[in-house]
Amino acid sequence: MNDDSTTTISEPVPRPVGSLGRRLVLATLGFCLLFTLATVGLRTWTAWQNNLAEMNAELALIDQVFRSTLSKAIWEMDSDSLHSQLDSVVQAAPIGRVELRIIRAGREPELVQRQRGEQPAEHRAPRLQHQLTYEPYAGASETVGELVLEGNEELLWERMLAEVYDIVITQVIQSLLLAGLIMWMFNRTVTLHVRRIARHLTRLTPDNLDRSLRLDRSPKRHDELSLLEGGVNSLQAKLSAYLERQHQDELALAAHRDRLAELVEERTAELRAANVQLEELSRSDPLTGLANRRQFDEIKEVEFRRALRQDQPLAVLMCDVDFFKRYNDHYGHAQGDQCLRMVADTLQSVFARAGEVVARLGGEEFVVLLPGVDAEAARRAAVRLQQRLAERELPHEASAVSPYVTFSIGLAVLDPDTMDQFDQLLHRADEALYRAKTHGRNCISA
Ligand code: GH3
Ligand code: MG
Ligand code: MG
Repeated sequence: MNDDSTTTISEPVPRPVGSLGRRLVLATLGFCLLFTLATVGLRTWTAWQNNLAEMNAELALIDQVFRSTLSKAIWEMDSDSLHSQLDSVVQAAPIGRVELRIIRAGREPELVQRQRGEQPAEHRAPRLQHQLTYEPYAGASETVGELVLEGNEELLWERMLAEVYDIVITQVIQSLLLAGLIMWMFNRTVTLHVRRIARHLTRLTPDNLDRSLRLDRSPKRHDELSLLEGGVNSLQAKLSAYLERQHQDELALAAHRDRLAELVEERTAELRAANVQLEELSRSDPLTGLANRRQFDEIKEVEFRRALRQDQPLAVLMCDVDFFKRYNDHYGHAQGDQCLRMVADTLQSVFARAGEVVARLGGEEFVVLLPGVDAEAARRAAVRLQQRLAERELPHEASAVSPYVTFSIGLAVLDPDTMDQFDQLLHRADEALYRAKTHGRNCISA
């Protein structure tokens, strides 16, 4: 089944327009995130190294400050001073734990410790270990113990966290600013103009191709956008010229079409006239201009029926030029034609009344149809014809009956009792003509 009727042409649904700027900013943000992560990692590692070095330096300084007084207190076995010094050491912010091993000759080493709060099991803060020596007199150096200083883990992490916080904040702000700037720049320099070009192109129609594209920016700028602007304008100009040319062509084509229609009209009229002429020609004898056999055949039936219907007489004269073959042989064919024209002219001048028909049946044989004419009047007309031909004195030296061109005439009239076909009448006239020929020619036989 044909379901054309149900087919509908659906309008294309316009797709939502995305934004190049948004894609660019997402890409930039993605890149900035990776960049921020890498930078934060690197800067955190550097900060960690710096913090370790700083804490190490602080431990070294504390060691330097307390080393000699602690050695002296051990040597002099001044326990109060020793403990108060150790308390002081552990009070210093960079210290997490302090350990003192007292070495005395002949005794087990004694271990004294001080610790700040809870120290984690896994220790990352720096650790400093140092032998304590005492010089009771110049040149005598005695090892009195070993001092171990461990950095303050809590302080180390506190410092690190503060720095990492700074690093992350500055990096994130930097990245966001960069992405925003790129977005803003791209929107101002590209997106805005691309949208303007798209709007211009959608509004273009064949009628407003002369409205050129102007981007809203400094004309001094020469970049990809100016190339695009120039390209669009040049395309419009070419399209406009092309459409103009097409319009001119269409006008010329229309003019040609009109001219062609006129020509066809003219030709048709000429053809119609030629057809009329042809019809005329096909019904008349080209040599004499008389009706030909075809036209005669049309007329004869009409006149025959009319005569029968109206009970009117109808006469037929069959006229044949005598010795015409000899005429041709004697004077030539062209002269023969000329002679036939003269004979036809004579026939027409004699039978010029309305209704009288003269036709050339062929060769030098003519027929005259005389409606409403009885036998007597027909005979008089035939005599008149012979007289008129004789008066013209057309020379015929080869004729055996006269020095001039003569006619033999067969005459017949309609007999409604015996004839119901015209050809019967014609046949009667033909027989009469034959009799005229056999009776010596240049005569009338009925
Ligand atoms: P008759 O006296 O018995 O009628 O003899 P005829 O010579 O007239 O008759 P025939 O039928 O023997 O010859 C007729 C001649 O007419 C023969 C032909 O050459 C000539 N003829 C026929 N048509 C034309 C024509 O159109 N032009 C010319 N010039 N001659 C024609
Ligand atoms: Mg003949
Ligand atoms: Mg003849």
